[in-house]
Amino acid sequence: MANVNGMHAEAGIVDLERLSLSTGQAARVQATVALPAIELGGQEYEAAGGAADARLDVSRTTTGYALRLRYEAELMGPCVRCLEPARSELSVDAREVDQTGARDEELRSPYVSEGRLDLDRWANDAMVLGLPSQPLCRSDCAGLCAVCGQSLNDADPEEHRHGGGGDPRMAKLRDLNLE
Ligand SMILES: [Zn+2]
Ligand SMILES: [Zn+2]
Repeated sequence: MANVNGMHAEAGIVDLERLSLSTGQAARVQATVALPAIELGGQEYEAAGGAADARLDVSRTTTGYALRLRYEAELMGPCVRCLEPARSELSVDAREVDQTGARDEELRSPYVSEGRLDLDRWANDAMVLGLPSQPLCRSDCAGLCAVCGQSLNDADPEEHRHGGGGDPRMAKLRDLNLE
């Protein structure tokens, strides 16, 4: 549900015609966009609070509208290497152009229909496009040990070894087997 200051808006829809802009005029709309969780690589990622405060700039062109959507969100979900909770900053800056009545699909925005902008759907698509392809808990995350699955971020690499006699616990086991 978009909450647009001074404007009528329902279910994330912004009525562009209601802005009553003449050619060359522009308006800024503040709106809260709903951001449901999305799936990436089998894991769920969501924006903190499930919503973001967005700025929508609407410019009336001779043939339609030029639109710019900006918002920041904190993205939460598992780190792709160690599966610990990870947070990353998401900064969205998306643009759309809609030439009202144009027959060419290229000139129409998929989010504008009969002068009404589906702001929530645009904001969601922009979030998917803006996602880091590999969300990490930190840029140098060491991931999980391929042998035992323990997180290597907290492990001392000198002590954490399998085979090769590096792990003192394994050495002890071998000693026991010899008796
Ligand atoms: Zn990690
Ligand atoms: Zn291990």
